Amino acid sequence: MLATILHKPGDISCEEVTDPKILQPTDAIIKLAASCICGSDLWPFRGLQPVDRPMHMGHEYCGVVVEVGGEVRTIRPGQFVVGSFCISDNTCPHCRFGFQSSCVQREFMTGAQAPYARVPLADGTLVATAEIPPADLVPDLLAASDVLGTGWYAADAAEVREGSTVVVVGDGAVGLMGVLAAREMGAERIIAMSRHESRQKLAREFGATDIVAERGDEGVARIKELTGGVGADSVLECVGTAGSFDQALACSRPGGTIGYVGVPHDVKFDGQQLFFGQKRMLGGPAPVRRFLPDLMDRVLTGRIKPGKVFDLQLPLAEVAEGYRAMDERRAIKVLLRV
Ligand SMILES: [Zn+2]
Repeated sequence: MLATILHKPGDISCEEVTDPKILQPTDAIIKLAASCICGSDLWPFRGLQPVDRPMHMGHEYCGVVVEVGGEVRTIRPGQFVVGSFCISDNTCPHCRFGFQSSCVQREFMTGAQAPYARVPLADGTLVATAEIPPADLVPDLLAASDVLGTGWYAADAAEVREGSTVVVVGDGAVGLMGVLAAREMGAERIIAMSRHESRQKLAREFGATDIVAERGDEGVARIKELTGGVGADSVLECVGTAGSFDQALACSRPGGTIGYVGVPHDVKFDGQQLFFGQKRMLGGPAPVRRFLPDLMDRVLTGRIKPGKVFDLQLPLAEVAEGYRAMDERRAIKVLLRV
């Protein structure tokens, strides 16, 4: 089959590889309904994460099961499934505590920018729909695999609830999904920090009530102004830079909570600042598996349309153009047709 391989930074292509096969009795092989490119795929593409050997890219997926290993009990060939980018058994103490992304058997999904993919720990990782969903819901279900699940976790970790005032730092695909999640959780005020017009528009569509285009100290001053000098109850940090963390901390009110899902790069915390600031923080790789059944239900019942975050669709063969479009910020998120 043709799959996406990153050879070295900037060098990505769709090329012939051997078909995935069952390696462990707990594996499943799925035929992807669609795949996509993640913001985190850009780290190795940009050379900001080492590429020691050719990488099989892709960790967001949904599709139909074609084969299962001998120990797979609940997942069957023919089912339409969505899985998390974190592979988990869903039975260990961390999984049962709702933190499947810290599963004792955790692996990170790879190789999903392809027509077929191997999913380890199929019973724990995959969630099946009752029937094959209509094709127009595929982008929405695909979004649940990572980008929606991660935005949702940011809002959940930030303790967004009915009536909350929320600030979302970052207008990438995850930040936009954080806006959607905050609205679904009943936030009254959702302030999206965004400088890009097309993203501001989408943020409003997903539920943002205010847009703040300023950044840094100016951005914080605007948030203070909008919240009567108090700050936000919940802040979703969806970038991962030192500047975005500073902004998130400064926008949060004392006793407020920051949910952080941007992978931190060169971020340092000052103990005294946290101590006297009285800010709560929870973040990390999203335990998407915890939220998947609920998110899939919201998609299947038409309550949410997270697939709107895909503003460019390309055939898998043109995956390199997809990476470039996201790298150059010409696209928010690229869906790959397989
Ligand atoms: Zn586990």
